[in-house]
Amino acid sequence: MMHNNAMSNLNETINIIMPMVEKHKVLEAHIQDLTDLIGVARTVVSTLDLDKVLDSVLASALQFMEMPSGMLAVYDETSQETVPHAHTGLSTEFVENDRWRMSGRCDAITRQAMGDGNIRYISDLAREADSADVSMLQEKIRAVVCVPLLLQNRPVGVLYLYDSEPRFIEERQLDLLAVLASFAVMSIDNASLHSRTKLMAITDGLTGLHNNRYFQQVFPYELSRARRYAKPLSVIMADIDHFKKLNDTYGHPKGDQVLAAVGKVLSGSLRAADFSFRYGGEEFAILLPETRPEGAFLVAESLREKICKVVTPLLGSDAEQNVTISLGVSCYPNDGNTTEQLLKHADQCLYKAKRQGRNRVYWESLPA
Ligand code: GH3
Ligand code: MG
Ligand code: MG
Repeated sequence: MMHNNAMSNLNETINIIMPMVEKHKVLEAHIQDLTDLIGVARTVVSTLDLDKVLDSVLASALQFMEMPSGMLAVYDETSQETVPHAHTGLSTEFVENDRWRMSGRCDAITRQAMGDGNIRYISDLAREADSADVSMLQEKIRAVVCVPLLLQNRPVGVLYLYDSEPRFIEERQLDLLAVLASFAVMSIDNASLHSRTKLMAITDGLTGLHNNRYFQQVFPYELSRARRYAKPLSVIMADIDHFKKLNDTYGHPKGDQVLAAVGKVLSGSLRAADFSFRYGGEEFAILLPETRPEGAFLVAESLREKICKVVTPLLGSDAEQNVTISLGVSCYPNDGNTTEQLLKHADQCLYKAKRQGRNRVYWESLPA
């Protein structure tokens, strides 16, 4: 009897302890998850480097889900396309092909996840051929988790986790993925705010051109490049003719419209490698890397003609004056070795263009 009693006591004790052991294991797993999350959170707050944060989010998600491959893509509003930023364990072809457009190619799972903001997964793609994208099958992916990255219902990106084996996904795992997703969203939002602020700091609000502050950065940089690679660098200074009179006749707001229109012609007429700046008031500067003075002269001449033709109609059909500009050209190494010398020469040429009657380009090489 004594023996049986002892056995049943032991069984009872085991029955009490075992669930506790199980609970302990679950708690330990939770603690590990939270520790991982804190690690990612540290990266998020300690760096402005978007790619670093996204790498860290992807790595934690994969480690936590024990999945071998994945990708984090950021949505680009301009091209309306997602652009892969971080990826692991995937072929280059798959990563590069996996850009999708909100309104175009986009697999069912992504569309659903983006639509309602909920994480979606497919445990076995082989059983859900309808939802499977051909490229996933080619990549030998069997299971996929799609985590939408939304900021106030606006898409900012998407996180995919893949496995080459079918996978069962637990509810608790989705909760943690949602937290990781919110880290990624915060970082993407921070990064875009940061780049917009940076852009604003170098942009002139009225014309949309680069501002004088940026000119002061770019000009020495481009000159040092020209020197290093032994290439020419041309500078054009341009100034609107009789702009005071234009303001007096048509009013300051019309003057502003003219300035904005001149800016638009400049930015729309140059090569991708060229820079146009609002130097100040109604003065503009243009930098033409790898351009000799003869080439710069032709660019200046075509800008002069185009501005008169495109901008003058803003003053109405009975305009009392044309909108014209005068331009001065200067070129490294012909006209100077420093930014100061080159700018001074361009200014002198501009002054001569004005003195000779305005609405013209002036360039004169300095005697050797
Ligand atoms: P010139 O042909 O010799 O260049 O004559 P100008 O009247 O253009 O010469 P000036 O440089 O003396 O005058 C520039 C005028 O540009 C004066 C200023 O009121 C005007 N201006 C400068 N910035 C702005 C601006 O942002 N908006 C408007 N509407 N006018 C501006
Ligand atoms: Mg002026
Ligand atoms: Mg002027």
